[in-house]
Amino acid sequence: ERVLSGEASMNDVSFEQSLRPQSLSQYIGQDKVKNNLSVFIQAAKMRKEALDHVLLYGPPGLGKTTLAVVIANEMGVNVRTTSGPAIERPGDLAAVLTSLEPGEVLFIDEIHRLPRAIEEVLYPAMEDYCLDIVIGKGPEARSVRLDLPPFTLVGATTRAGSVSAPLRDRFGVLCRLEYYNDKQLTDIVVRTAEILETEIEWDGAVEIARRSRGTPRIANRLLRRVRDFAQVRGDGTITLSLADEALELLQVDKLGLDHIDHKLLRGIIEKFRGGPVGIDTIAASIGEESTTIEDVYEPYLLQIGFLQRTPRGRMVTKQVYEHFKLEVPNS
Ligand code: ADP
Repeated sequence: ERVLSGEASMNDVSFEQSLRPQSLSQYIGQDKVKNNLSVFIQAAKMRKEALDHVLLYGPPGLGKTTLAVVIANEMGVNVRTTSGPAIERPGDLAAVLTSLEPGEVLFIDEIHRLPRAIEEVLYPAMEDYCLDIVIGKGPEARSVRLDLPPFTLVGATTRAGSVSAPLRDRFGVLCRLEYYNDKQLTDIVVRTAEILETEIEWDGAVEIARRSRGTPRIANRLLRRVRDFAQVRGDGTITLSLADEALELLQVDKLGLDHIDHKLLRGIIEKFRGGPVGIDTIAASIGEESTTIEDVYEPYLLQIGFLQRTPRGRMVTKQVYEHFKLEVPNS
């Protein structure tokens, strides 16, 4: 299991539950998104209406699920949680929708994975708060409209481009979550350490933050591993040198890259002279799926400027040679 994965592992689930910020004020970073949402939430509350539907998009582990819960809390309503792959038939979705209380939040994670036939149930539900149900079969069949309580759909996706246009158009609020900067991640690490009742020095928190790939889920996971290390090898306090030593052992380098990133980057340098090289060729050469590279490994490398996308394929940048202490080739 990859310690630097943005996706939640089985181990993360209950741990993360205890760390979730409950209000906008506890939610660190994403200021633009928070400011927008807080205006819409206040306005909806003043009008005593359900909040407009919200689509959250961005890489895994940046706080989409957390934000859905925060939105419901700020509106003072319950949240129901499901996911695209969990809804198999239109009837499943209809059952959830008809059981909502007025104003409630329905959170659908991985909404881009809803089958089209099910998505179509959502259109009138989102637009007019109603369901069109077909009763009977053959020539006897007729369609009836069923009213739903007003509700807020919060959808989350890691691939905004995979959400169909008709679905995307029905969201009133689109929020793109960004990678967190080191300061914000340090605040998140310090907050989590407080909840875990773990002593941490500021430098230690900064070091964990720096290696967390801009992702709160990874920051919290690394903190937990370093904390174990501090208990066994130290006196329980997380210092800079202790964090450094623990992360070294976990094979997380100074920039938060691991052996998979190294294999990818070194592969491009050694086999393709640094690129440009097509994604499928890279994938075949290191034995990974192209989609895994595109969805999982590459986004952070692009973000920190280690990889560049060009019309002729991927290229490593000068920084990669410097990071690996290799000579930068001419031209
Ligand atoms: P996503 O749904 O985008 O994959 P989650 O909402 O599950 O991400 O967030 C993963 C973990 O990171 C949560 O347990 C939460 O504790 C933490 N987290 C995410 N965003 C924030 C934030 N802005 N402030 C503090 N903690 C956060």
